[in-house]
Order: sequence, then structure tokens, then C-alpha cells
Amino acid sequence: MCGIYIHIPFCRSRCVYCDFYSVTQSGQWMEAYVDALCREMRCRRDEAGCRTINTLYIGGGTPSQLPPALMCRLMAEVNRLFALAEDAEVTVEANPDDVTPAWLDAILATPVNRISMGVQTFHDPLLRLLRRRHTGLQAQDAVTRCREAGLHNISVDLIFGLPGQTLDMWRSDVEQVLQCQVPHLSAYALQYEAGTRLWSLREQGLVEEASESLSVEMFTVLTQMARQAGMEHYEISNYAMPGMRSRHNSSYWTQVPYLGFGPGAHSYDGDRMRRWNEHGLRAYVEAIGDVPHGKEYLTQEQKYNETVMTRLRTCEGLPLDILSSDERNHCLRAAQAYLRTGNLVHRGQSLCLSERAFFISDTIICDLMQ
Ligand code: SF4
Repeated sequence: MCGIYIHIPFCRSRCVYCDFYSVTQSGQWMEAYVDALCREMRCRRDEAGCRTINTLYIGGGTPSQLPPALMCRLMAEVNRLFALAEDAEVTVEANPDDVTPAWLDAILATPVNRISMGVQTFHDPLLRLLRRRHTGLQAQDAVTRCREAGLHNISVDLIFGLPGQTLDMWRSDVEQVLQCQVPHLSAYALQYEAGTRLWSLREQGLVEEASESLSVEMFTVLTQMARQAGMEHYEISNYAMPGMRSRHNSSYWTQVPYLGFGPGAHSYDGDRMRRWNEHGLRAYVEAIGDVPHGKEYLTQEQKYNETVMTRLRTCEGLPLDILSSDERNHCLRAAQAYLRTGNLVHRGQSLCLSERAFFISDTIICDLMQ
């Protein structure tokens, strides 16, 4: 098993909170970029060996900004170079205002069978504050349009803890997603990342960060509403109807190997090797041979820490039997205090976060690390 991630680093405009690698005003780069992606895939195809590709994720940036003809060319090359499983999960990220009937027609002629839509909120004043390009109504229409086109495997992203967002506003956001009956929901607390416009707005006192107690309430409301709607809370930030988990993201949390293509994309061999492509569109497009990248080999200690960090975020938790006996002893010693308070619990052979501990998961995970 193996996954592929392809990064499309183009955005029409920049959202105030975003620190992902992407460029705007990039129309003239797109064709050359897809050529470069195809070159990188040809150059590195052997890294997949003869493994079957079970999941393909096209993320960004804004992949839906790529003209359909270029997206089709890219997908044709993926198909030619890699053994895509018949039941592969193939996801493309999209902004709601890009999801037009023509775009959907083109996308559905490729192996894409899942869409991940960045909605963030349905409240227009908040969308304007975030400098999102769409309105709440456009987001609803985009979901309907996907369904009418026969694309039912839809994931929606929401953000909570936005400046000025009340608990009622958040409740109505979650309600709208649930009414749309999408089978997957990802919800993240707003982060203030250094260097973003949002960060400087806060520095200037122009926006106020949501209090921790409000964020906890929002998270609790979300979890309750999603559960009542029949969704399982399978990872701290992710909810899905039965059988509709994101297979691609789940593979990141369970140490399945993946290949990442495009500037800023990461790869992992499933054991100790991590590789990351450098940022920088021009250097990527102009590279001859392999693209600029870095590589590291994880020590056993780093591998243990990553396993703790990723597995504990999932509802299945950390299986203690995948650790060495020294690691298991260390982990259980560090876990004692949290087991006593009920923030960690044993479930079968695994150590799991209890629901109330999700909001302090970072602290717990750090304490369990070596
Ligand atoms: S569209 Fe997505 S990647 Fe682009 S700036 Fe906004 S959040 Fe970032």
C-alpha cells in the first residue's frame, strides 16, 4: 500500500490565516508547473516500487484553480506511471466558488471520486474577514452541485474560534454542514501563525482571539452534534459517517508510506526516511533532474515520538504492542498520571485519549514523548 500527495501551489488570493505554501498571480506558471510535476513523478516513480497506490490526494494551494485540461493531463500521467488500485480513494481539494458544472464534468472524467471543500464558515461577514472568495450560499450550492453530478463522497472543512464568532454562529455552521448530509467533516480551531495577515491584525489589536473556554465549548458542541448525526469522531479534528473516513489522511496517522510531489510536499518510506521538497515555484519548475529537496533518517527515538503523536490523535489510540518493551515501559510510566485522572484510558491493547482530554492532547502527547 502506498499513498500519493500532489501539491498545487496556486491560489487566486491569500486567506488571512493561511501559512501554506502557495502563490497568487500565477496563471502563466500553470502549464510549466504541470510539466514539472510530470517530470518529478517520472523521475521518482521507482520509489513506489511495485506497490499499489490506494490513495491519491491533490491538495494545495487551490487545486480547483488548475484549468480542467491541465488537471486531466496530470491525472493521465499519474495513471500511466503508477498502479492506481481499482478502488483507490482519489481526492481533490476545491474552493466552493470553483465548483462549477463545467469543472465538475471535467473532474469526473478523471479518477477523482472525492472532494474536500474549504468552507470554513457559512457566515458572510466572517468569510469576508478571512478573505475567503466565496459566500455561505455559494458553499451550499457547491455541495448540492457535487451531489447532482453524482459525486457523493464530500468532505467539508470548518474553522472555529474565529474573531467575533459566537457559540450560536458556530452551532449554525455545524447544523448547515449536517443538513447538507456530507459524509465527512474536518474542523480546526483557528491558529494564529506568525507571518500571516491574521497574526498582524491581532498584533495591531484589530481582531481578538477567541477565549479558550469558548473554543472548548465550540469543540464540545461540534462533537455532540456530529455524534447525534451518526458521525464517528475518528481523529481529533475529523468526523465521518461509518465507512467514510478519509483513507488518505488515515494512512498518515498509521505510518503507511507516501510519495509527495510538488514544492513543499513531503514523502515517507513507511519506516525511517522522510523527504521534503523545498518551497519555491521557479526553482521547482526549472529543476533539471531531481527537484531541490531535503531528506532525513529518523532515529528510533524520533520514530517513537511520531508514532505517539499521530496514533494518539485517533480514536483507535496508540497500540502498545507496536512499541519495543523499553518504549512501552517509558510510555506507561509517563501515562500513569493521566490514566489516574481519566484523561488517558486503556482500550484493549491500546492507550487512548478520553474525549475530555482532546483539548489538552498536545500536553499529554509531549509528556509521553522521549
Ligand atoms: S485558498 Fe487555501 S491554500 Fe489558498 S490561501 Fe486560502 S487557505 Fe491558503
